Order: sequence, then structure tokens, then C-alpha cells
Amino acid sequence: MNLFFKVDFMDLKELQEYVDKWIKMIGETDWTKWNYFARLVEEASEIGEILSIQEGHKKHKKIEDFDMEVEIGDVLFVTSALANCLGLDLNKCFRKVQKKLNKQFGKMS
Ligand SMILES: [Mg+2]
Repeated sequence: MNLFFKVDFMDLKELQEYVDKWIKMIGETDWTKWNYFARLVEEASEIGEILSIQEGHKKHKKIEDFDMEVEIGDVLFVTSALANCLGLDLNKCFRKVQKKLNKQFGKMS
């Protein structure tokens, strides 16, 4: 089992396929949508922790101990896993958000 194969993603569908394959390879196939949601909240809170350090709210922690790129990547990975668990297509999800935002902000101009 090679968990370290390199993949250059072209779109969200390929990301979802990679995440699905990776999760099956490590055998974490019994995770529920609740498990993925809880993990997503955990990963998102790690982004919040970095921001709180950057903005001086947590002076006792060192920013060097954190990597925002990794934390954003964690959120992307878990979001993909949750979408897979829910049977959702992230490209379609994003297109719906685009449509919503265009409608919302189109009304403002
Ligand atoms: Mg993380």
C-alpha cells in the first residue's frame, strides 16, 4: 500500500476521487457522516487557532508551531471526505454557491 503517491488535482471531482481512494487504502471506511463533520469542525478550529495567534489573542503560543497551508488542506480533505460520505458532488455544490452569491450580490449593485 503506497500512501504517498503524488497527485496533481485538476478539479474537485478528482480531489474527491483521490480522497475516497486514500481513505479506502488506509481502511477508515467505517467513519460516519457525523465522524467527518466532527473532524471538519476540529480542523476548522485549528485555522481559528492560527488566526487567534496571528491577531494576538493567544500570546502564549508560537505561530511557528502551526502551518496555515496544512490546516486549510486538512479542511479541504475532510470536506471532500464528508461530501463523499453524503454522496455529494463538490463541483455541483460549488456551482450552487456561485449561483447563490451571484444572485445575492447581483441584487446589491
Ligand atoms: Mg489540522
